Amino acid sequence: MIKKILVANRGEIAVRIVRACSEMGIKSVAIYTDADRHALHVKKADEAYHIGSEPVTGYLNAHNIVNIAVISGCDALHPGYGFLAENPELAEICARRDIKFIGPNADVIRQMGDKVQARNAMIAAGIPCVPGSDGNLAGVEEARALAKKIGYPVMLKATNGGGGRGIRRCDSDKDLISNYERVISEANKAFGQPEVFLEKCVVNPRHIEVQVLGDSHGNVIHLFERDCSIQRRNQKLIEIAPSPQITQAQREYIGNLGVKAARAVGYENAGTIEFLLDQDNHFYFMEMNTRIQVEHTVTETITGIDIVQEQIRIADGQPLSFRQEDVQRSGYAMEFRINAEDPKNDFLPSFGRITRYFAPGGPGVRTDGAIYTGYHIPPYYDSMCMKLTIWALDWEKLLNRARRALNDMGVYGVKTTIPYHLQILNSAEFRSGRFHTGFVEQHPELLNYSTRQPPRDLAAAISAAVIVHRGL
Ligand code: ADP
Ligand code: ADP
Ligand code: MG
Repeated sequence: MIKKILVANRGEIAVRIVRACSEMGIKSVAIYTDADRHALHVKKADEAYHIGSEPVTGYLNAHNIVNIAVISGCDALHPGYGFLAENPELAEICARRDIKFIGPNADVIRQMGDKVQARNAMIAAGIPCVPGSDGNLAGVEEARALAKKIGYPVMLKATNGGGGRGIRRCDSDKDLISNYERVISEANKAFGQPEVFLEKCVVNPRHIEVQVLGDSHGNVIHLFERDCSIQRRNQKLIEIAPSPQITQAQREYIGNLGVKAARAVGYENAGTIEFLLDQDNHFYFMEMNTRIQVEHTVTETITGIDIVQEQIRIADGQPLSFRQEDVQRSGYAMEFRINAEDPKNDFLPSFGRITRYFAPGGPGVRTDGAIYTGYHIPPYYDSMCMKLTIWALDWEKLLNRARRALNDMGVYGVKTTIPYHLQILNSAEFRSGRFHTGFVEQHPELLNYSTRQPPRDLAAAISAAVIVHRGL
């Protein structure tokens, strides 16, 4: 049995993995850069190793990280999401050094990380895909010819993309020509790889994804779907399970399709198959993420299954703890990504010291965070600093509970997306449970709110005054 795990990540997901280890009686080892000396994952893990002064590259140095795993006596490594999570070389280095990689094998990571190869594998397996290129584009002329064949609008996408970057919609030849070089340069900059491909743009789609789990004994199951249609610039803001937008028959269909897709590539460990649902109720494969996802919490909340613990058991060679027919769900869950950003200022990252943090609580509330009062959010990393996951028995109660919890929560000192989430919750369209990926762009008026947060110094002054008043 795995006894000690190196957590090759930072922030809330590192904390999440440490929590799973702790419940399983497994020791955890954190890594940190200078900028993360006071980070929560360092405080929560059993041991922590400094990986240098470079804020970002430290978390990207696979050889160094695996070395630390070996030296500290770990027998496994969890990559989290982002950083090296979908880097096949990390999985290979782990295999060579006899460290169990908590994820699928390097070949599957490589295959599914390449969106063109992934599409081709899915087409071969009989999974519906939107029409598009069967290889990387050789040049803008090839792109134009293909766009003419499949019809505008089309999407130009970075073949190795992730995190919503390197994706552009093109409505005409003119668009395609002006976006072509831009997407290549974005892809090069963000992913170090210039390859791009093209696929038909699904107009006003819903983003529906299926959580799958596969073990080393050939068992593959799904844990239902998540609806991630509330996005800004192709990045998820709110995720919901189950989707309020599909029928039970569609739910069964898409769950089975997810399992079929995972089986087709011999998938092992936790993974997500992302689909688009068009206005005529057709599902199309979009991509597969070969790692734990940010929004796994909503699935855990409705099923009661700890996906991170399941990942660890799978990597340990144990069979899945559940058969498909054992997986039950109850109620609805919704996750809010609380980003340290100023929505009113084009979601500009807002880093700095958290002068006060009040965690929300009460029934049906879960937080996964990496902040605390006095913590300085460093400017080098993702701006997501907290996730709020709400559960309730039905959709209406969920909306009310979510509003209550967001109001309950206090993050002072930096700007956050909390007031913007409250605006979305007030929107009749959102509340109706019918929305597509264009929702945020189509509702600029949701940004017209007055900030309820007192300015940072005032917040500190008020709490100081309260303490004096109470004679504490
Ligand atoms: P999820 O699908 O889990 O919701 P996101 O797409 O939001 O994940 O990505 C989670 C994190 O991983 C983000 O910080 C994102 O920027 C990062 N990320 C995802 N894919 C890549 C990639 N291919 N290259 C670099 N960073 C990535
Ligand atoms: P990433 O790897 O960055 O997560 P995805 O391929 O999953 O990239 O796409 C991210 C988002 O971009 C989707 O959730 C969807 O909103 C939008 N998108 C991607 N491809 C298409 C498409 N063909 N048609 C319409 N929207 C798309
Ligand atoms: Mg995606």
